[in-house]
Amino acid sequence: QPLIVTLDGPAGSGKTTVAKMVAARLGIAYLDTGAMFRAFALHLGPQSWTRSEADLRNGLAGLGFAVKGRGEESALLLNGEPLGAEIRQEEVGMWASNLARLDVVREILKQAQQRLGAETPLVAEGRDMGSVVFPQAKFKFFLEAAPEERARRRWLQLKEMGVEEDLDALAENLRRRDDQDRNRTIAPLKPAADAVIIDTAGLTPEAVAERIVQIVAR
Ligand code: C5P
Repeated sequence: QPLIVTLDGPAGSGKTTVAKMVAARLGIAYLDTGAMFRAFALHLGPQSWTRSEADLRNGLAGLGFAVKGRGEESALLLNGEPLGAEIRQEEVGMWASNLARLDVVREILKQAQQRLGAETPLVAEGRDMGSVVFPQAKFKFFLEAAPEERARRRWLQLKEMGVEEDLDALAENLRRRDDQDRNRTIAPLKPAADAVIIDTAGLTPEAVAERIVQIVAR
């Protein structure tokens, strides 16, 4: 069983930045599972979550994920192609959250995630990595941060990618998405019972990554 470090938390908690740093320090790949939900959402298009289970299965059949590289260089490939910046749009995030409530979608992605984890040591980042997908992982972390802080971070992150969003609209969108992720019936966003919870308020991503590496390397 390759090493798996799970990193879960709400949108804008700094998971992706921290996951990349931890993966670089440990010399292993990182897996952004939110990107998998986003890629499915973009592939299926608007209102996909209202489609029938059979139709969704058909729409998703033949799509395969792979992970290439390590640390900051880790890339998630869908059918051999790297995922583009389009998946980062807030609207696609909301579509992803709507799709993520469906059992059929979660089941397909869980299998893909477990297969990747069986092949490669990973820092796996998402909402249910420690609670559902890799319950046997030896190292589990859950990042917390205040909603305003998370909105501000996400706003900066998008700006760096050249995407301009209105801060208030973004904060409202993150709030709705988190509520939906926390309150869904399957795999709701919550820490695994054995996860180490890190409140990231006032901590740089480097400091959070350092804490995690200290525990894993101990
Ligand atoms: O992490 P990110 O914000 O890119 O994830 C987009 C959406 O995908 C989340 O709001 C959530 O609904 C869903 N997701 C999930 N389980 C994961 C990762 C993401 O349900 N492991």
